[in-house]
Amino acid sequence: MATSNVRQQALTAIATTTHTLNRLDFRKEHLKELFGANVFHEEEQKARLPKHVFKTLQKTIRLGVPLDPSVADSIASAMKDWAIEHGATHFTHLFQPMTGLTAEKHDSFLSPSGNGNAVSEFSGKELVKGEPDASSFPSGGIRATFEARGYTGWDPTSPAYIRESPNGATLVIPTVFVSWTGEALDKKTPLLRSMEALSIQAMRILKLFGNTEAKKVFTTVGAEQEYFLIDKNFVYARPDLLTAGRTVFGAKPPKGQELEDQYFGTIPERVIACMSDAEAEMFKLGVPVKTRHNEVAPSQYEIAPIFEDSNLATDHNQLTMDILRRTAEKYDLVCLLHEKPFAGINGSGKHNNWSMSTDAGENLINPGETPHDNAQFLVFCVAVIRAVAKYPELLRVTVASAGNDHRLGANEAPPAIMSIFLGDQLQDVMEQLEAGALKSTKQGGFMEVGVSVLPKLPRDAGDRNRTSPFAFTGNKFEFRAVGSSFSIAGPNTVLNTIVSESIDFIATELEAATKAGKTLNKAIQDLLPGILKESKKVIFNGDGYSEEWHSEAEKRGLPNLKNTVDSIPVIIRKDSVELFAKYKVFTERELQARYTIFCESYVKTINIEANLMTMIAKTMVFPAALRYQLEVASAVNATKAAGVDNAAQLGHLKDLTATITTFQSACTALETAHHHEAHGDPYAHAKQMRDSVLPKMVELRTVVDKLETMIADDIWPLATYREMLFLK
Ligand code: ADP
Ligand code: MG
Repeated sequence: MATSNVRQQALTAIATTTHTLNRLDFRKEHLKELFGANVFHEEEQKARLPKHVFKTLQKTIRLGVPLDPSVADSIASAMKDWAIEHGATHFTHLFQPMTGLTAEKHDSFLSPSGNGNAVSEFSGKELVKGEPDASSFPSGGIRATFEARGYTGWDPTSPAYIRESPNGATLVIPTVFVSWTGEALDKKTPLLRSMEALSIQAMRILKLFGNTEAKKVFTTVGAEQEYFLIDKNFVYARPDLLTAGRTVFGAKPPKGQELEDQYFGTIPERVIACMSDAEAEMFKLGVPVKTRHNEVAPSQYEIAPIFEDSNLATDHNQLTMDILRRTAEKYDLVCLLHEKPFAGINGSGKHNNWSMSTDAGENLINPGETPHDNAQFLVFCVAVIRAVAKYPELLRVTVASAGNDHRLGANEAPPAIMSIFLGDQLQDVMEQLEAGALKSTKQGGFMEVGVSVLPKLPRDAGDRNRTSPFAFTGNKFEFRAVGSSFSIAGPNTVLNTIVSESIDFIATELEAATKAGKTLNKAIQDLLPGILKESKKVIFNGDGYSEEWHSEAEKRGLPNLKNTVDSIPVIIRKDSVELFAKYKVFTERELQARYTIFCESYVKTINIEANLMTMIAKTMVFPAALRYQLEVASAVNATKAAGVDNAAQLGHLKDLTATITTFQSACTALETAHHHEAHGDPYAHAKQMRDSVLPKMVELRTVVDKLETMIADDIWPLATYREMLFLK
């Protein structure tokens, strides 16, 4: 065997490459100056805009007042000057189509002036509205190509920024993306609508509590992002990683994560160089990244920002994913954002920390120190519990994807059953509240809503329960089932909407009761116990991974939508349609479109992975298997010819040949199942993929992984888990 295969070439390349790691000098470029350097932020706006324009813009940003179109020209002009000073030659409207990624089309600032020269121009009209020729984005049928117009509209609440690239820079303007009929074609529009819905409802509660200061309520989000970094040579050598971002084959390595030596371990040098570089880029764009660490799996890491309003947090999480991917390449690494790049090893998620806050900065999920705050906290907290109890399936479907199907319930991520972890203290408070008499707390003390003091719950009251999909963590809820590659817009849109509905319900009851003469405290004490009684089935503080929980959940009647295909129909169920219509978050047509897109995206993903499996099996695994078979057969024959007993070697040959035969039938079976496509109804197609194609993929994988442990290592062509996860 003179020539080496792609796997060996990758290993050689990794062993012999030295990397340029020192690219930044933070002694010269101080973080403080770096932060927001490329953002057209408030200070920059104030310095550059006429006073009344600045004020108008701030009103829109802070209070959601529609922007007075007459100031757009002035803002555009200041933005352009600022951008050009920062080296920008182009501008783009950045939007978030239903692919879950971001999309952009660049326009130059230059316009010919008619006398052979050019001038740089950027009008208010260009700032406010764009019309990308964007008919190729998934629309779920909302836009037939003949009516393919889609418009981008400036979102002034997310500041414009400069993205530097080799040989230039671009002014990036965050936008919504809607059809000419005004229907949402993106993920940002519904998110903004849901934030508005929640603000309206939450303000009613604040009003009841006599809060006259708050003008608006924002939902806040801090998204902890998990990801893998592996050497790019492995990706070049593995068609599955390159194309699907995950390995479709790969035997269990001799050592995985069982020694628990990865979590919070020292970060490898090349990785920390890459992280620091990525963070510097994020700082420049005003993304407030705060923490980084090694995660549970080998080569897995996490980055977490400081929370922001949900819209900004969503834009910033998209930027985080983008910057991680781009920066990794500079260090000959590849950032894998897939939920399950390696079977049998922890997958990646995104912990969506969520709360509500007034424009004055009061966190509404923060149990305060005064009785007044406590009552208000309890109201909002019970509203969230009620929302999850009432709409667990809607929450579930927001985290559904072919990728996340590998992760949820796989004993390393929360199960697909939506439940809430409250922690001992809050659990105790809720139980007493439900019993109708808030008297004592676990610490002793005496408590009654609105009369005495709820003990100050320490942040992170109780232990951290990693097995719960939805956990109260001291002053926020943490939705942990979100997949690592997801846009967080979808989960937050739904979360905001279902909580809006609960707050609306509670506000309506409280308003009626107080109008009828009850004190607010009495009204609250009369109302909350009943809600808790109805909702408490969703509260679970135990081990979400355990078998017992699964049967207990079934007894409680909690839905367990095990996979994407089971979850999708919830999107267009009657109660979902009514809910989203009531709060003006999605129209029925928009939901129908999303349903179709979810189905199609599932089908496409499985389709690509099945194609990859067959291709790799036929062109890489099978040839390697035959070569090795020939080697063994020759040895067996030669041994026999020499007159030596070869029974054991013959046995091995028989084993090998039998395994190769099983492999060939598994390969054919997958091809047959895959080619037997269902046409027409996208849901039927998704079902067929799950029920016929997926099982065949699993069978093929099993036998290929077995071959990996039989075939001579110098012939095996696919980079192994042992190598990909541990070599850097
Ligand atoms: P924990 O120890 O519970 O993980 P951290 O303080 O490390 O808490 O925060 C985890 C994430 O939660 C961070 O991204 C943080 O900014 C975010 N977070 C904290 N408070 C809030 C809040 N009020 N709303 C939304 N996210 C929050
Ligand atoms: Mg956390």
